[in-house]
Amino acid sequence: MTRTPKPRKRAPRTFGQTKAASLFARLAENRPDPQTELNFVNPYTLLVAVALSAQATDVGVNKATKDLFRRAKTPEEMLALGEEGVARHIRTIGLWRNKAKNVISMSRILLSDYGGVVPEDREALVKLPGVGRKTANVVLNEAFGHPTIAVDTHIFRVSNRTGLAPGKTPDEVEQSLERTTPPAYKNGAHHWLILHGRYVCTARRPKCWICPISDLCRFKEKTPAPRQISSLGPKPADLEAGPSMK
Ligand code: SF4
Repeated sequence: MTRTPKPRKRAPRTFGQTKAASLFARLAENRPDPQTELNFVNPYTLLVAVALSAQATDVGVNKATKDLFRRAKTPEEMLALGEEGVARHIRTIGLWRNKAKNVISMSRILLSDYGGVVPEDREALVKLPGVGRKTANVVLNEAFGHPTIAVDTHIFRVSNRTGLAPGKTPDEVEQSLERTTPPAYKNGAHHWLILHGRYVCTARRPKCWICPISDLCRFKEKTPAPRQISSLGPKPADLEAGPSMK
Protein backbone atom coordinates (compact mmCIF):
# COMPACT_ATOMS: atom_id res chain seq x y z
CA MET A 1 0.00 0.00 0.00
CA THR A 2 1.39 3.36 -0.93
CA ARG A 3 1.16 6.10 1.58
CA THR A 4 -0.11 9.50 0.59
CA PRO A 5 2.65 11.94 1.46
CA LYS A 6 1.64 14.50 4.07
CA PRO A 7 1.49 18.04 2.72
CA ARG A 8 4.62 19.88 3.79
CA LYS A 9 4.13 22.86 6.06
CA ARG A 10 5.54 25.93 4.45
CA ALA A 11 7.55 28.27 6.64
CA PRO A 12 5.89 31.70 6.68
CA ARG A 13 7.43 34.05 4.13
CA THR A 14 9.42 36.93 5.51
CA PHE A 15 9.95 40.22 3.68
CA GLY A 16 12.93 40.54 1.38
CA GLN A 17 15.43 43.22 2.39
CA THR A 18 14.22 45.63 -0.31
CA LYS A 19 10.64 45.54 0.93
CA ALA A 20 11.84 45.68 4.55
CA ALA A 21 13.93 48.74 3.64
CA SER A 22 10.81 50.49 2.26
CA LEU A 23 8.91 49.66 5.44
CA PHE A 24 11.60 51.03 7.75
CA ALA A 25 12.19 54.07 5.53
CA ARG A 26 8.54 55.05 5.97
CA LEU A 27 8.52 54.46 9.73
CA ALA A 28 11.78 56.42 9.99
CA GLU A 29 10.37 59.33 8.05
CA ASN A 30 7.77 59.94 10.73
CA ARG A 31 10.15 59.35 13.64
CA PRO A 32 13.69 60.17 12.50
CA ASP A 33 15.19 60.01 15.98
CA PRO A 34 13.25 57.40 17.90
CA GLN A 35 13.99 56.90 21.59
CA THR A 36 12.68 54.81 24.41
CA GLU A 37 9.80 56.33 26.34
CA LEU A 38 11.32 55.16 29.62
CA ASN A 39 13.08 57.87 31.62
CA PHE A 40 16.70 57.25 32.62
CA VAL A 41 19.86 59.22 33.25
CA ASN A 42 22.64 56.68 32.68
CA PRO A 43 23.06 53.01 31.60
CA TYR A 44 22.43 51.83 35.15
CA THR A 45 19.09 53.63 35.54
CA LEU A 46 18.14 52.42 32.05
CA LEU A 47 18.86 48.84 33.12
CA VAL A 48 16.74 49.27 36.26
CA ALA A 49 13.89 50.96 34.35
CA VAL A 50 13.76 48.25 31.68
CA ALA A 51 13.86 45.50 34.31
CA LEU A 52 10.98 47.20 36.14
CA SER A 53 8.97 47.52 32.93
CA ALA A 54 8.19 43.80 32.67
CA GLN A 55 4.40 43.53 32.85
CA ALA A 56 4.09 47.26 33.47
CA THR A 57 3.61 50.29 31.24
CA ASP A 58 6.38 52.80 30.53
CA VAL A 59 4.16 55.53 31.98
CA GLY A 60 3.73 53.53 35.21
CA VAL A 61 7.47 52.85 35.44
CA ASN A 62 8.33 56.51 34.84
CA LYS A 63 6.00 57.54 37.66
CA ALA A 64 7.67 55.08 40.02
CA THR A 65 11.24 55.90 39.02
CA LYS A 66 10.84 59.68 39.17
CA ASP A 67 11.59 59.76 42.90
CA LEU A 68 13.57 56.53 42.95
CA PHE A 69 16.21 57.87 40.54
CA ARG A 70 16.31 61.16 42.40
CA ARG A 71 17.45 59.17 45.45
CA ALA A 72 19.54 56.53 43.66
CA LYS A 73 21.28 56.74 40.27
CA THR A 74 24.11 54.30 40.92
CA PRO A 75 24.39 50.76 42.32
CA GLU A 76 26.00 52.17 45.52
CA GLU A 77 23.14 54.58 46.11
CA MET A 78 20.58 51.84 45.41
CA LEU A 79 22.22 49.52 47.93
CA ALA A 80 22.21 52.33 50.47
CA LEU A 81 18.47 52.74 49.90
CA GLY A 82 17.95 49.03 50.59
CA GLU A 83 15.26 46.61 49.45
CA GLU A 84 12.53 48.19 51.58
CA GLY A 85 13.45 51.64 50.32
CA VAL A 86 13.28 50.51 46.68
CA ALA A 87 10.00 48.70 47.34
CA ARG A 88 8.44 51.87 48.77
CA HIS A 89 9.08 53.68 45.48
CA ILE A 90 7.88 50.98 43.11
CA ARG A 91 4.80 49.70 44.92
CA THR A 92 2.52 50.98 42.16
CA ILE A 93 3.90 48.61 39.52
CA GLY A 94 3.27 44.90 39.10
CA LEU A 95 5.51 42.34 40.85
CA TRP A 96 7.10 45.13 42.91
CA ARG A 97 8.29 42.88 45.74
CA ASN A 98 10.28 40.64 43.43
CA LYS A 99 11.49 43.54 41.36
CA ALA A 100 12.81 45.36 44.45
CA LYS A 101 14.70 42.22 45.46
CA ASN A 102 16.18 41.90 41.95
CA VAL A 103 17.23 45.55 41.77
CA ILE A 104 19.17 45.16 45.01
CA SER A 105 20.81 41.84 44.00
CA MET A 106 21.66 43.23 40.56
CA SER A 107 23.24 46.32 42.12
CA ARG A 108 25.30 44.19 44.50
CA ILE A 109 26.66 42.09 41.59
CA LEU A 110 27.38 45.17 39.47
CA LEU A 111 29.46 46.55 42.33
CA SER A 112 31.28 43.34 43.23
CA ASP A 113 31.94 42.02 39.70
CA TYR A 114 31.90 45.03 37.38
CA GLY A 115 33.13 47.97 39.47
CA GLY A 116 29.62 49.45 39.50
CA VAL A 117 29.54 49.74 35.69
CA VAL A 118 26.87 48.14 33.49
CA PRO A 119 28.67 45.59 31.26
CA GLU A 120 28.39 46.11 27.50
CA ASP A 121 27.93 42.40 26.99
CA ARG A 122 24.75 40.37 26.55
CA GLU A 123 26.02 37.23 28.28
CA ALA A 124 27.03 39.19 31.35
CA LEU A 125 23.78 41.16 31.38
CA VAL A 126 21.48 38.14 31.25
CA LYS A 127 23.22 36.67 34.29
CA LEU A 128 22.04 39.60 36.40
CA PRO A 129 18.91 38.96 38.51
CA GLY A 130 15.73 40.10 36.76
CA VAL A 131 17.49 40.64 33.41
CA GLY A 132 16.38 38.53 30.45
CA ARG A 133 17.39 38.66 26.80
CA LYS A 134 14.82 41.33 26.01
CA THR A 135 16.08 43.69 28.75
CA ALA A 136 19.69 43.03 27.75
CA ASN A 137 18.93 43.84 24.10
CA VAL A 138 17.19 47.11 25.02
CA VAL A 139 20.16 48.19 27.16
CA LEU A 140 22.70 47.22 24.50
CA ASN A 141 20.73 49.13 21.86
CA GLU A 142 19.78 52.21 23.84
CA ALA A 143 22.82 52.70 26.08
CA PHE A 144 25.60 51.37 23.87
CA GLY A 145 24.26 51.69 20.31
CA HIS A 146 24.39 47.97 19.46
CA PRO A 147 22.12 46.94 16.57
CA THR A 148 20.05 44.63 18.80
CA ILE A 149 16.28 44.16 18.51
CA ALA A 150 14.38 43.35 21.68
CA VAL A 151 11.13 41.60 20.86
CA ASP A 152 8.36 42.77 23.15
CA THR A 153 4.62 42.29 22.72
CA HIS A 154 4.34 45.17 20.19
CA ILE A 155 7.22 44.01 18.00
CA PHE A 156 5.97 40.42 18.13
CA ARG A 157 2.53 41.51 16.92
CA VAL A 158 3.73 43.94 14.22
CA SER A 159 6.32 41.48 12.85
CA ASN A 160 3.72 38.73 12.53
CA ARG A 161 0.82 40.84 11.28
CA THR A 162 2.72 42.64 8.60
CA GLY A 163 4.67 39.56 7.53
CA LEU A 164 7.93 41.45 8.09
CA ALA A 165 9.37 38.72 10.32
CA PRO A 166 6.89 36.03 11.32
CA GLY A 167 7.66 33.67 14.17
CA LYS A 168 5.88 31.61 16.83
CA THR A 169 8.07 32.80 19.69
CA PRO A 170 9.90 36.06 20.49
CA ASP A 171 13.22 34.29 19.78
CA GLU A 172 12.02 33.20 16.34
CA VAL A 173 10.84 36.73 15.55
CA GLU A 174 14.16 38.15 16.77
CA GLN A 175 16.12 35.81 14.49
CA SER A 176 13.82 36.59 11.61
CA LEU A 177 14.23 40.35 12.17
CA GLU A 178 18.01 39.90 12.33
CA ARG A 179 17.89 38.38 8.84
CA THR A 180 15.33 40.71 7.30
CA THR A 181 16.28 44.14 8.68
CA PRO A 182 18.71 45.96 6.38
CA PRO A 183 21.89 47.02 8.26
CA ALA A 184 21.11 50.72 7.81
CA TYR A 185 17.93 50.32 9.89
CA LYS A 186 19.13 47.90 12.57
CA ASN A 187 19.89 50.51 15.21
CA GLY A 188 16.46 52.11 15.08
CA ALA A 189 14.37 49.04 14.17
CA HIS A 190 13.53 48.25 17.79
CA HIS A 191 12.08 51.70 18.45
CA TRP A 192 10.31 52.12 15.13
CA LEU A 193 8.49 48.82 15.51
CA ILE A 194 7.56 49.41 19.16
CA LEU A 195 6.21 52.89 18.51
CA HIS A 196 4.35 51.70 15.44
CA GLY A 197 2.77 48.89 17.48
CA ARG A 198 1.97 51.16 20.41
CA TYR A 199 0.33 53.98 18.47
CA VAL A 200 -0.79 52.69 15.06
CA CYS A 201 -0.77 48.90 14.78
CA THR A 202 -2.47 48.50 18.14
CA ALA A 203 -3.53 45.08 19.44
CA ARG A 204 -7.23 45.89 19.07
CA ARG A 205 -8.49 47.76 16.07
CA PRO A 206 -5.20 48.73 14.41
CA LYS A 207 -5.39 52.14 12.75
CA CYS A 208 -4.83 50.82 9.23
CA TRP A 209 -6.45 53.87 7.66
CA ILE A 210 -3.61 56.14 8.81
CA CYS A 211 -0.88 53.52 8.60
CA PRO A 212 2.12 54.56 6.49
CA ILE A 213 2.98 50.96 5.61
CA SER A 214 -0.53 49.76 4.81
CA ASP A 215 0.29 48.84 1.20
CA LEU A 216 3.27 46.73 2.31
CA CYS A 217 1.46 44.99 5.17
CA ARG A 218 0.12 41.46 4.56
CA PHE A 219 -2.58 41.64 7.27
CA LYS A 220 -5.81 40.80 5.46
CA GLU A 221 -8.44 42.17 7.86
CA LYS A 222 -7.36 45.80 7.68
CA THR A 223 -9.47 48.19 9.74
CA PRO A 224 -11.51 50.53 7.55
CA ALA A 225 -11.57 54.24 8.27
CA PRO A 226 -14.27 55.23 10.77
CA ARG A 227 -17.35 56.69 9.09
CA GLN A 228 -16.74 60.11 10.69
CA ILE A 229 -13.61 60.46 8.63
CA SER A 230 -15.37 60.26 5.32
CA SER A 231 -18.57 62.11 6.24
CA LEU A 232 -17.78 64.59 9.02
CA GLY A 233 -14.02 64.79 9.05
CA PRO A 234 -11.64 62.97 11.39
CA LYS A 235 -11.99 62.97 15.16
CA PRO A 236 -8.74 64.06 16.83
CA ALA A 237 -8.51 60.66 18.56
CA ASP A 238 -8.65 58.87 15.20
CA LEU A 239 -5.67 60.78 13.94
CA GLU A 240 -3.64 60.27 17.10
CA ALA A 241 -0.65 58.30 15.94
CA GLY A 242 1.57 58.90 18.94
CA PRO A 243 4.23 61.51 19.41
CA SER A 244 6.07 62.28 16.19
CA MET A 245 9.78 62.57 16.85
CA LYS A 246 10.15 65.27 14.24
S1 SF4 B 1 -2.00 48.16 7.82
FE1 SF4 B 1 -2.98 47.80 9.79
S2 SF4 B 1 -2.31 45.77 10.42
FE2 SF4 B 1 -0.92 46.48 8.81
S3 SF4 B 1 0.79 47.44 9.89
FE3 SF4 B 1 -0.65 49.03 9.38
S4 SF4 B 1 -1.95 49.21 11.19
FE4 SF4 B 1 -0.90 47.24 11.32
